[in-house]
Amino acid sequence: MEIIVQKFGGSSVADAGKIRNVAKRVVRTHEAGHPVVVVVSAMGDTTDRLTQLAGEISANPPERELDMLLSTGEQVSIALLAMAVSELGYQAISLTGTQVGIMTDGFYSNARIKSINEARILSELDQGKIVILAGFQGVTIDNEITTLGRGASDTTAVAIAATLGADRCDIYTDVDGVYTADPCIVPNARKLNQITYDEMLEMARLGARVLHSRSVELAKKFNVHLCVRSSFSEAEGTIVVKEQEMIEEVVVSGVTSDKDQAKVSLLGVPDKPGIAARIFQELADAGINIDMIIQNASQQGATDISFTVTKKDLDTTLKTTEQLKTKIGCQSISTDHNIGKISAVGIGMKSHTGIAARMFRALADEGINIQMISTSEIKISCVIDEEQTERAVRAVHDKFELGGASS
Ligand code: ASP
Ligand code: MG
Repeated sequence: MEIIVQKFGGSSVADAGKIRNVAKRVVRTHEAGHPVVVVVSAMGDTTDRLTQLAGEISANPPERELDMLLSTGEQVSIALLAMAVSELGYQAISLTGTQVGIMTDGFYSNARIKSINEARILSELDQGKIVILAGFQGVTIDNEITTLGRGASDTTAVAIAATLGADRCDIYTDVDGVYTADPCIVPNARKLNQITYDEMLEMARLGARVLHSRSVELAKKFNVHLCVRSSFSEAEGTIVVKEQEMIEEVVVSGVTSDKDQAKVSLLGVPDKPGIAARIFQELADAGINIDMIIQNASQQGATDISFTVTKKDLDTTLKTTEQLKTKIGCQSISTDHNIGKISAVGIGMKSHTGIAARMFRALADEGINIQMISTSEIKISCVIDEEQTERAVRAVHDKFELGGASS
């Protein structure tokens, strides 16, 4: 029988009762004859609470100690789940990232998995045990504990599934799948039965919080059979598939939004070779991730360059660009942190025309001004006023008729 990896998020293990429920589900899969590897997140909002606690001690805690602290959340939930499985009369063993050898690089709080030693997992499975692994954490070659980024237990689960060649990787969460939009914003949003890896990747990057984007990257690369489903119901969930396996014909699969963005404009920048290279090199050296970039047509040898960064990177971005200002001869810098980004994602964009026009029309009909636009083969993103974000999501969702019947 093939191995099944099941990942349970923080809300699925938020209290003792929920942990008992997870234990029952895991045991059921084991009873069906599958070797089961379970990956769990920290209970409820533990990771947030620990982060806050660190903030009460230090405005700038040493990154090694922060990872040491945050990794404890998952250690609590794996131990409790193993106890719950034992209570049901089955054998289970909890293991930390260090114990299983989830080897990572040394980038604290955002480490990447380099390799996983499957020997320990396989030997425990061979003994008939249910193996319960701590998500979100790893260890460096120097034996330092690292964490993989917020939400990264998904990535642990997919990496384990890829390493073990598991039959499937089921991500259990508090919603019953991937939706056409956030149901809190769009009440008639619909659950998708299928979505392609590429669409899911765009949606995860663009603000849909249901899966950690690196988990989708890994699933695509190693062809992991990935499914998002609810830990509180038996509903089917959403399967992430290859494009060729997509049965439903869709133009747009989902609409996402992201308010965690800020816009920076460098006005009156000399329009000559090397300037953009210089600006964005310095920003890259400062560790800043740039999202959209727009350069205006030049007038009298000068141009304006605008780009977006996440809100937390705005201060560093400003420091870096202020230093550059005189060096490159830019006239002024302006910022706007009251922006929102809304995006429509769908593989059908590759083969259908007029999708962008339809999206812009939806926004125009709502009187919403578009400040920036960026597109890829399967997505269109617009930067708009932050306050208008929810209205924009609803308008675009309606325009593409994504809603379910019970609106
Ligand atoms: N506990 C970690 C977090 O809250 C990892 C995860 O839940 O995926 O970010
Ligand atoms: Mg998550």
